[in-house]
This record gives sequence, C-alpha cells and structure tokens, in this order.
Amino acid sequence: MATSSAPRSTAAESAGPALLAAIGAALPDLRLLTDESDRESYRNDETAYLHAGLPLAVALPASTAEVAVLVRLAAEHRVPVVPRGAGSGLSGGAAGIDGGLTIALTRMNRVLEIDRENLVVVTQPGILNAELKAAVAAEGLFYAPDPASYEICSIGGNLGTNAGGLCCVKYGQTRDSVLGLEVVLADGRVIRTGGRNVKDVAGYALTHLFVGSQGTLGIITEATLRLHVAPPPRSTLLAFFPSLAAAGQGVAAIVNAGLHPVTLELLDRETIRAVDDAFQLGLDREAAAMLLIESDLPATAAEAELDAAVTACGGAGASSLVRAQDATEADWLRQARRLALRALERQGTVRMEDVGVPRGRVPELLVAIQEAADRHGVRVATFGHAGDGNLHPNFIFDHDDPRAAELTETVRNEIFASALALGGTVTAEHGIGLSRRAALVDQVGPDVIDVMRTIKAALDPLGIMNPGRVI
Ligand SMILES: Cc1cc2nc3c(=O)[nH]c(=O)nc-3n(C[C@H](O)[C@H](O)[C@H](O)COP(=O)(O)OP(=O)(O)OC[C@H]3O[C@@H](n4cnc5c(N)ncnc54)[C@H](O)[C@@H]3O)c2cc1C
Repeated sequence: MATSSAPRSTAAESAGPALLAAIGAALPDLRLLTDESDRESYRNDETAYLHAGLPLAVALPASTAEVAVLVRLAAEHRVPVVPRGAGSGLSGGAAGIDGGLTIALTRMNRVLEIDRENLVVVTQPGILNAELKAAVAAEGLFYAPDPASYEICSIGGNLGTNAGGLCCVKYGQTRDSVLGLEVVLADGRVIRTGGRNVKDVAGYALTHLFVGSQGTLGIITEATLRLHVAPPPRSTLLAFFPSLAAAGQGVAAIVNAGLHPVTLELLDRETIRAVDDAFQLGLDREAAAMLLIESDLPATAAEAELDAAVTACGGAGASSLVRAQDATEADWLRQARRLALRALERQGTVRMEDVGVPRGRVPELLVAIQEAADRHGVRVATFGHAGDGNLHPNFIFDHDDPRAAELTETVRNEIFASALALGGTVTAEHGIGLSRRAALVDQVGPDVIDVMRTIKAALDPLGIMNPGRVI
C-alpha cells in the first residue's frame, strides 16, 4: 500500500511524443531509454513502498550542454523533469513521475581537476562518492562527506540531499564541503555559483540554496568541493551501555567534554544483534546500545582523545569499553555500521526514518522512539549519527505485513511530534522528498513554506523541476 502519491500529469502525458521527437531532433547522439522495462528500473529510489510514477523516458546525458537542451525542451513542452543520481535516496526525491522525463546524471562521472594547491576537487555529479574519495586519496587527499551508502550514491545525489554520514560530526554535512556549483536552471540557462574561494560573500548564498533542494530548483552539473590533507588511519573505541538512556548520556558527555571524534555512531540492541548476526563481530549482544567512536588524530593525540571518551562513557554508565586492535579491525567495524540497514533487511521489510534533535536531547529522543514503537506494537531498531543528534528509527515488519504502511505512518508521526517537541527536525539528512511533505509544514510553519514557494516560483515559474517534492 502506498503512503504517499506521486503527482500525475495528464498534460505531460500528451506532450510526451512531441518532446521525444524534439529531443531526437536536437540530440541525435543522446542515450535515451524509452523501453518500458528500462523505464521501470528508474521508477523508484530506495523507497519502493511509495507510489512512484513511470517516466516517459530516461535521458542519460554526457555533458552540461545536453542537460541544458533537455531541460529547455522539457520546459517548452511543459513536461516535468526528475533529476536523478544513483537512486539510493530514502525520501522518494528521484522517484519517477508518470509521463515525466527522468534525467540521470550517471554518465557525467569524471573528476575534472584535483587542485592540490587550493585543496579543491572539481567534479561532475555522476561519480559515486566512493570513487571520488578514492581518486583524491590517490593524491594523499581526503573528501570528507561519507554517507553510509557511499559505495552506491553519487556526488550529485549527495548535493541534491545535502547528505550527511558518519563523519559529519567532525567535518560537517555535504554543504560544508561545497565551494561552487554549475547549475542548469529550469529554463535551460547554465549558471555558476561560488568558485574556489574559501571566503566569498558576493551576493546571496546561491550555492547553499541549491544544495539540499532535491532537484526542485535546478540540475547540478559540476561541483567544486573542499578537500583536506588525508588524516591518519582511525583509532576506534566501542562503548556498550546497559540502557538507551545511558548511551544517550554517553553521547552528551563526549560532546560536553569538548571532544571532536570523527565518528560518534549509536546502535541499539536490535541493530547490534542484526549486525553481529550478519558479520560475526563478537559484539556484546546483551547491551542495550553501543557507541562507535573514532578518532582520526595522529597516534598519541588519538590515544588521548579515546582515553577522554572512555572517561566520558564510563561516567555515563558504560558496561564495557573495547578498543579496536588495529586499522583493519577498525575498518571492519565501520563497514559493519555502514551495512546496518542491509543487516536489518535480512529480518523483514524495513522502513527507515531520519529524525534529528539538538545533541543534548538524544537521550530523550531515544526514549520517545521506543515508547512510540511499544505503544503500537511495532518492532523498531534504531541506529544513527548520534553525535549529530541524528537517529534512524527503522520499523521492521514481516514481509507482506498488510499493516506496515498504516503503522509506519502512525508511529513515525508520533516520533516526528516528539522530535519537534524537543526542538528537532523531521529529517536531518534524507530530505523531505515525497515522503515527508506534511511533516515539513508542521516543522517550519506556513510563513516559511510561503517563502520557499516564492523561491521555487522565481527559479522555476513553470513548475517543471521535480514537482511535488519538498513543497
Ligand atoms: C544503505 C543506505 C545507507 C544510507 N546512508 C545514508 C547516510 O548515512 N547519510 C545520508 O545522508 N543518506 C544516506 N542514505 C540515503 C542516500 O544514499 C543519500 O540520500 C544520497 O545522497 C542519495 O544519492 P543518489 O546519488 O543515490 O541520489 P538519488 O537518490 O538519485 O537522488 C536524491 C535526490 O537528489 C536529487 N539529485 C540527484 N542528482 C542531482 C543533481 N545532479 N542535481 C540536482 N539534484 C539532484 C534527486 O532529484 C533527488 O531528489 C543511505 C541510503 C541507503 C540505501
């Protein structure tokens, strides 16, 4: 059963053949998928439970110029456009629209320049996050943003969602690594925002407006991103706790101590057991929760940082504290955390949420999540980027449980309400997309929605860019 509907566009459906003919004439070498089975594979992102539409066609452009022509022609024919990266999104942002044109940026996947002197990389959007990381690592450099999905998500999608990840707690969200963009606007014009300057206050902050706009304001065709000199291999500490509240206190104690670990992740008991079943890591399966704490400081400083984390977690009531033996074991633990969703998916159908609160309120959010799930008899496994105050409650249902959609809706609305009451957000990194539009209104109120609509109308007066997403 669908929890939300993709917009349908009858006008767009009738304009379809004319658009395809115009594209064929203007871009005869373009890779354009029109077979139903090909289009079907671009219907959903990772939110298969939402109702997504079947695109009229899927274009795979190879250059900014091709993207610009596609958008201009779509505007002329009033056909909605869905920008798409690798389709790993968890809000329905890249899901198809019936009769719409999906523009997948996956072929625009080249690193254009690594500028060591200025510590920036200029890249096309279709490259996978892991590929970009590897390309700059070969030059001794480090691109920080690292969604757990980094091997399957693109930089364009990361920019579209302002993706977070495991090391945001130290290096910030994707937005904090973006210096400049090239964007194809809704009428086909191409603009450049920002550049290589670390400081630049010339006019409105357009770069940051496009980041996180989920393809509703334009299509990003190039990005200039900030790099760091590669930090040392990480040192890792696992802290196990007898209660969720104590683990939350552990997070608060680490933050209060002024520590800056590169990773501060939380896994609850359900998640610990799922990950341990999947990867046989020998974790403490009786613990109510575990924190994964990493330092990327040089050896002695890392020791001191983890010693201080031991003290903070001990004070919060940790039942055991274990250090990874070496970098290989540390890599295993981090990879296991990254695969937590896949480990849970072995147990049933999983629906993942993405709430955030000010970091000091993580203990209260953890309790509120468990109480909401218990009230409705729903199995929940929570993990997430606790150091950012960002938790992912995952509702687990038997495959084909007919109550899944209704119960998800009920429980998540209660969790949203709790997050907002704690001063938090209904989405910290996955985005509003299709699936959280009503909740956005609850969070920001009508005046802010009105400002957002004004910006949208100014940049996309015909409303062709990813309509029905975000607002
Ligand atoms: C197992 C798993 C773990 C995950 N872990 C994390 C995590 O730790 N942190 C996190 O933030 N997310 C996470 N995600 C969600 C997802 O991977 C991210 O949202 C990611 O940024 C999406 O990238 P994508 O290339 O797949 O984008 P898509 O899903 O294709 O698109 C995402 C959005 O960006 C827009 N978009 C795509 N390309 C462009 C472009 N060039 N210009 C403008 N808009 C564009 C789309 O229209 C859509 O709205 C996870 C997902 C999975 C499946």
